[in-house]
Amino acid sequence: MEGKGKVNGVAAMAACYQGFDPAAYLQYNYTPPRADFDRKDSIVPWKLACLHRAFTEGDVRGELLVDIGSGPTLYQVLSGCEVFNKVLLTDFLEVNRQELRGWLDNEGGCNLDWTPYLQHVCKLEGRRPSAWTEKAAKLRQVITDIVPVDVHRPQPLALDALPSEGADCLVSCFCLESVSPDLAAFTRALGHIGRLLRTGGHLLLIGALGESYYFGGPGVRIPVVPLNEAQVCASLKESGYTLIRLEVYTLPQDMRVGVDDVSGVFFVKAIKE
Ligand code: SAM
Repeated sequence: MEGKGKVNGVAAMAACYQGFDPAAYLQYNYTPPRADFDRKDSIVPWKLACLHRAFTEGDVRGELLVDIGSGPTLYQVLSGCEVFNKVLLTDFLEVNRQELRGWLDNEGGCNLDWTPYLQHVCKLEGRRPSAWTEKAAKLRQVITDIVPVDVHRPQPLALDALPSEGADCLVSCFCLESVSPDLAAFTRALGHIGRLLRTGGHLLLIGALGESYYFGGPGVRIPVVPLNEAQVCASLKESGYTLIRLEVYTLPQDMRVGVDDVSGVFFVKAIKE
């Protein structure tokens, strides 16, 4: 009975995602005011600063970085692509994998211009903004594939997607809480993705605090597990991670633009025990 309930909750989430619209999602979350590079308190620059710091502290290294639930976005690997020789992008939906392939193949027709993002991360790295073309080339060079993922499966990726030792680092942004029917499923999903990571590898996790829904497109209301910091820490511990750092961002009033009810964002740097 309990097993059936779990399956139903997960199936209901999968059904919600059938209406996900990459273009609308990018418009809602990755344009101003949420992505205003002239404002320090804008949400996207905050996320990029957290990732820049995490990837340049010297402890996160290796050969392979895997991004779990990439969606139609690339911002989350703009710092990591300078550290890892291989970056694997993953998503549940073909429409999102297609959006990412469009950028990778550089054939135009992308729903978002990533240039200001590339320029901003170049600036964080102390490079001239015009180095963005080099960063774009580097990113295209290191992305090895864009593959399906399902964090509700004990083995979220195809068996041959990773080397047997696992990835050296995982990044995952706004995925687990927005695809899980409840806190228990969120915690289980954290455990599932941990199986993709080598022991001693790093997890960089960004997610929503206090969010109960977001719009994945016009009229596409997707339920989210509302999390607080204590729950994030407890889930990490239960799933076999040691927390290195948790940072919290509180949304200014004018970033609450009606596309969700998020109140804050957490950034976690953790290690797999
Ligand atoms: N990482 C992107 C970002 O930071 O904006 C996208 C996050 S979006 C809120 C959630 C993503 O989870 C979507 O791209 C969706 O396709 C993906 N997703 C849905 N169900 C999933 C599942 N069962 N396993 C993994 N990813 C899933």
